[in-house]
Amino acid sequence: MQQISHLIDGQTVAGKSGNTTAVYNPATGEQTGTLDLASVEEVDHAVASSKKAFEDWQTVSVAQRTKLLYNFRNLVEANAEEIARRLTAEHGKVNSDAQGEVARGLENIEFSCGVSEALKGTYTEHASTGVDVYSVRQPLGVCAGITPFNFPAMVPLWMFPNAVACGNTFILKPSERDPSAPRFIVELAQEAGFPPGVVNLINGDKVAVDRLLEHSDVKAISFVGSTPIAKYVYATGAAHGKRVQALGGAKNHMIVLPDADIDLAADAAVSAAYGSAGERCMAISVVVAVGDVADDLVAAIKKRIPNLNIGPGDNPDSEMGPLITEEHRDRVAGYIETGSTEGAQVVVDGREQQFDGDGFFLGASLIDDVTTDMTVYRDEIFGPVLSVVRVDTYAEGVKMISDNGFGNGAAIFTRDGGAARQFQQDADAGMVGINVPIPVPVGYHSFGGWKDSLFGDTTMYGPEGLRFYTRPKVVTSRWPDPATSTVNLGFPQND
Ligand code: NAD
Repeated sequence: MQQISHLIDGQTVAGKSGNTTAVYNPATGEQTGTLDLASVEEVDHAVASSKKAFEDWQTVSVAQRTKLLYNFRNLVEANAEEIARRLTAEHGKVNSDAQGEVARGLENIEFSCGVSEALKGTYTEHASTGVDVYSVRQPLGVCAGITPFNFPAMVPLWMFPNAVACGNTFILKPSERDPSAPRFIVELAQEAGFPPGVVNLINGDKVAVDRLLEHSDVKAISFVGSTPIAKYVYATGAAHGKRVQALGGAKNHMIVLPDADIDLAADAAVSAAYGSAGERCMAISVVVAVGDVADDLVAAIKKRIPNLNIGPGDNPDSEMGPLITEEHRDRVAGYIETGSTEGAQVVVDGREQQFDGDGFFLGASLIDDVTTDMTVYRDEIFGPVLSVVRVDTYAEGVKMISDNGFGNGAAIFTRDGGAARQFQQDADAGMVGINVPIPVPVGYHSFGGWKDSLFGDTTMYGPEGLRFYTRPKVVTSRWPDPATSTVNLGFPQND
C-alpha cells in the first residue's frame, strides 16, 4: 500500500496532520494507497516555499524558462505510458483514454514553450514629443490550482506550465481520489530542472483549499470541479482579493437535425456519452432529436450499446471502465430509477449488466422521452447515462440550451452548412461542436464554458491562460531632447 504525500521545495514531505484518506483502484474496489491531507500549517509551508522561489524565478530569463519547459515536455512524453498507467489504476479510465489525456496535456506544455512570442509586449514610439509608451505583462506571484478527479493529469497541465512560463510559482492541490498521476507529473517538472519551490504540490481536502483561498500570499486561484464548489471557490477567493478562474460542471447537449448522418451521430453520441464512463465535463449527456430523426437515432444508439466493452481499464479490449467510487456509481444508478419514476422511458438500463468482482462498474444507460422538468435532465449526472429529448424544431433545441443553467459545450449534427453556421451563432455555450461531439479546444485556443460552467472572466489555458497569469504594466517614458544630451551625439547643438 503506497503512502502519498506532499512535494514541497523539491522534497517529499510526509504529512504531519494525521489526517489521511484512502485511494482505491475503482476496477477492483481495493484500497491501493493512503493519501496525506494537509493541515493549515502544511499549506503555509508550501506557500512560504513558493513565495521564496518567486523572488528569483520572476526574473529568470525567458530563454531559461523555455528551456526547462522543453525539458519538461520531453519528460512527460517519455513517461506517457507510466502516467497513463497511474491514471487507469486510480481513475479507472481505459488505457486509450488515459493516453489521450496525456496527449492533450502535452499540447498545453507545448503552448507554454512559446511564451517568448506571447509575452513580447507592445511599444508605441513618439506617443508624444520625446515620449514612448510600452506595455509589459508581469507575473502575479504565487498561484494555486485546485483540480478535479476526472482529468488528474490533463487539468493540472492546463494550468501550471502557463503559470510558470509567465514567471509565477505554482502550488497544485489535486483531487484526493486519484493523486498519483499529478504527483508524478510534478516530480517530472522537478527532474526537468525547475528550481525547488517553483512547482509545489500539496494533497488535501477542504482544509487545504480554504487555506489557499484565504492566504494573503496566494495571488491567483485556478479551479476546475463541480459547480457548487466552483461558485464557493470563486466567491471566497475573490472576497480575499484574489484573481480567480473557476470552471464548474456541465450538461452538454447534442442537437441532431433530421438531415444528419444517423450512423455518424449515433457513433458520436455513444463515444461522447459513455467514453470515460461519462465522467467528462464535455461528455454529451442530452441528445436533442429534432423532428422525425428520433426513432432511427434512438434505435441506432440502442443497437450500439451491447457492443460497448466495459471492463478494467488495463485490459486493452475495454472501451469503458468503472466509475470513480462506489458511492458515485450508486448515485448515478439512482438516476435511472428517478428517470423511470418521473415518466421517461428507460430504453437500456445499465443496472442490468452484471460485472464480476467488487469494481465500481455500471453499464451504459439510454433514457428516451426525457423532458426538461425531469431530474435526469436538470442534474449533472456525471456517469454513463444518456438522455434523449424529442423536439419538433431546431429553434426548440436552441431554446433548451439557452434555458439550461450550464453552458460548457454544445454540438450539432447536420449536413446543412447554413444550419451549422446558424447554430454557431445561436448556441448559448462557450465551446461549440459542428459534427464534433466533444469540442475541447486545442492548446493554442482556450477552454471554458459560460453561465454556471465558469465563474470568473478568463477561460483556461492558451492565450486566455497567459492573460490570467499575468498583469499588465504600462510604462510612459520621456527622454531629454537629444540636442541637450550630456553625451556628444554629434548634433551641431552639442558643440
Ligand atoms: P469537486 O468539485 O468535488 O472537486 C474538485 C476539487 O475541489 C477537488 O480538488 C476537491 O478536493 C475540492 N473540493 C471538493 N469539495 C470541496 C469543498 N467543500 N470545499 C473546498 N474544496 C473542495 O469535483 P470532482 O468530483 O473532483 O470533479 C467532477 C466535477 O468537475 C464535475 O462537475 C465536472 O463537470 C467538473 N469538471 C469541469 C470541467 C470544466 O472544464 N468545466 C473539467 C473537469 C471537470
